[in-house]
Amino acid sequence: MSPEIGHIRSQFPTLDQEFNHRKLVYLDSAATSQKPNRVIERTDSYYRMQNAAVHRGVHHLSANATDMMEQVRDQVKRFLNAAEREEIVFVHGTTHAINLVANSYGRLAMKEGDEVIITEMEHHANIVPWQLLAKSMGIKVVVWKIEPDGTLNLNTLKDLLNQRTQLLALTHVSNVLGTVNPVNDIISIAKQNGTKVLIDGAQSVMHQSIDVQSLDCDFYVFSGHKLYGPTGIGVLYGRKHLLDQMPPWEGGGAMIDEVRLDGETTFNESPWRFEAGSPNVAGIIGLGEAISFVEEIGFELIQQHESALMSAAMQRLSEIPDITIYGPTHKSGVIAFNLGDLHPFDVGSFLDRYGVAIRTGHHCAMPLMHRYQVPAMCRASIAIYNNKEDIKALCEGLERIRALLMS
Ligand code: PMP
Repeated sequence: MSPEIGHIRSQFPTLDQEFNHRKLVYLDSAATSQKPNRVIERTDSYYRMQNAAVHRGVHHLSANATDMMEQVRDQVKRFLNAAEREEIVFVHGTTHAINLVANSYGRLAMKEGDEVIITEMEHHANIVPWQLLAKSMGIKVVVWKIEPDGTLNLNTLKDLLNQRTQLLALTHVSNVLGTVNPVNDIISIAKQNGTKVLIDGAQSVMHQSIDVQSLDCDFYVFSGHKLYGPTGIGVLYGRKHLLDQMPPWEGGGAMIDEVRLDGETTFNESPWRFEAGSPNVAGIIGLGEAISFVEEIGFELIQQHESALMSAAMQRLSEIPDITIYGPTHKSGVIAFNLGDLHPFDVGSFLDRYGVAIRTGHHCAMPLMHRYQVPAMCRASIAIYNNKEDIKALCEGLERIRALLMS
């Protein structure tokens, strides 16, 4: 392990513990990443010394908390290279962001018979909100199927687009196959059809730098907890002119201008119109600290380290007899596999006994499980703190399980 990565890893207290007398090998960062000390300490110091309700208070603590929260909005704007700070909406996470777009933009821009395209590799968070909208509004959810190698064919997209296609909602990186979708090309094809594009960045934001202006997407969403930040906080980026037109979705405090009992209530400007109720201030401040952590490391090192690790993992895993790896060879962050006909639950439970934490199940992507005709898969996923010893531990664990259960 390079001293640089060793130093980064040493900042994650969760990784410095043992299970079953073995040092924890954490390979489940696609589900949630571990948190560096500085994020934990920043959240802690906020609660100890700075906690206050934001927006409405005249007192010092409240004004300070409001400023800190709004500074993180500026920070996220820079992180995503958004054009305006008002394009950044704080939400609970990716799921919340997509539901917001479906219920606000969807109801504004779509009418019966209109179409939304999603892909076959979406997380349920980018399937179910559109299906609920389809049920209530009579729109159609069109599925862009994947190729046998787990990628998307751009020519197929051209065949799916038509005058009724209002939105294409797709993941940047598959949380199962690790496929990195060519979102630049996809967005430009959709634009030629006048179709808006939502990018689910839940699995890309921690692995590569994002520039929403150069992507030219209309919405980009992600969760803080997969970016070394706290749970319960996420971001919806939306083009300003779209957010400005979009009606509120959730009602309550902070999102209003004037509330009247005759029903003529008026609403705040965007993005605050979409932030009903007391915001997760500690989460927002923790997210800001997580972004600083990532920026100080830099995506150059992140990509260099992670891609070397992914190649080593793919190479080493593919040498294990009876293993099936799903999806393309070139992947970002995650590797899904099965070992012979062993149930992933058994593989995951055995690995846990060896101190290796992976994820097993349908990964909130049941349509993909159907596509590959398996009930479940094992998934190992990496982050900046992982190293080759982690991959070695995973592979040795799998070899032991194979010898134990398959010979
Ligand atoms: N989309 C993708 C691609 C994901 O991997 C996840 C989390 N597994 C989500 C959406 C949902 O994220 P959250 O649960 O943080 O809202």
